[in-house]
Amino acid sequence: MTETSTLPDYPRGITFEQVWAGMMEDRDRQLESIKPEFVVSIPTAEEEVNIVLLELSRLKSMEARNYWIMLPNTSLFIEFENKLRADRILTNADRIAIKNHFINDVYDPTDYQPSFDTLCRVAERANKEIEKFIMLKNSWGFNVPENYQVRMTLYGPCGRAFPDTGEMLIRINKKNTWVFDPLTTILHEAIHIGKSNIITQRYNVPHWTNERLVDLIGVKLIPDYIIELPVNLAELPIDIIFENPDVLDRLPYYVEEFMREHSKSVEK
Ligand SMILES: [Zn+2]
Repeated sequence: MTETSTLPDYPRGITFEQVWAGMMEDRDRQLESIKPEFVVSIPTAEEEVNIVLLELSRLKSMEARNYWIMLPNTSLFIEFENKLRADRILTNADRIAIKNHFINDVYDPTDYQPSFDTLCRVAERANKEIEKFIMLKNSWGFNVPENYQVRMTLYGPCGRAFPDTGEMLIRINKKNTWVFDPLTTILHEAIHIGKSNIITQRYNVPHWTNERLVDLIGVKLIPDYIIELPVNLAELPIDIIFENPDVLDRLPYYVEEFMREHSKSVEK
């Protein structure tokens, strides 16, 4: 047998280095194609009215926590909001009236365009931080979905996360002005998605402690993250665990310890 017959069958004139470089490029392309990213979308009228109905159903409990909930500013909606605040519930006929009114008189897809362009740029920037989430995933199972679906809405609180599907709602306005930094809001909701099952649910972390925890993870991981919670809500003892240099590597352990020691003193 000649020596050449045992070599891999490279096309003539191509060096081993070139073949190797090609294999590496293919691998990079494959890795690139499976990398999660933030995908921004404008809601259809149907999707948006379903969000409005969801926010109406949670209106009383959100307002009890001092959240400011945006809803369509028409007399029909104000009437329904007051009905819900007075402990009444929406009937099927109410829901149909809301849907028809919203789709015919309120929804306008052009309202979303200015903020869409901004959010797409923010999403590009946020994509650069996903690697850090993947590190937490490898350390202790932080949930990183296939992609983050960033659904724009004109209604509700400034953000809302759906950990089971990797979706988030980001509230925008027609003028493309922002009450909260949009990059922080997107990353904040991504951290909720990441830690919801493995920490929040498992250790039954109370609401504001959980919000503080999300923000503390945010600032520790991401240089541009801005803590926007009011100071009185921010002064909860969960800050203590962040004095440990390895807190992010072993976060579930530290939260479990914290909850065991402080479960009687933190708010429910
Ligand atoms: Zn939050």
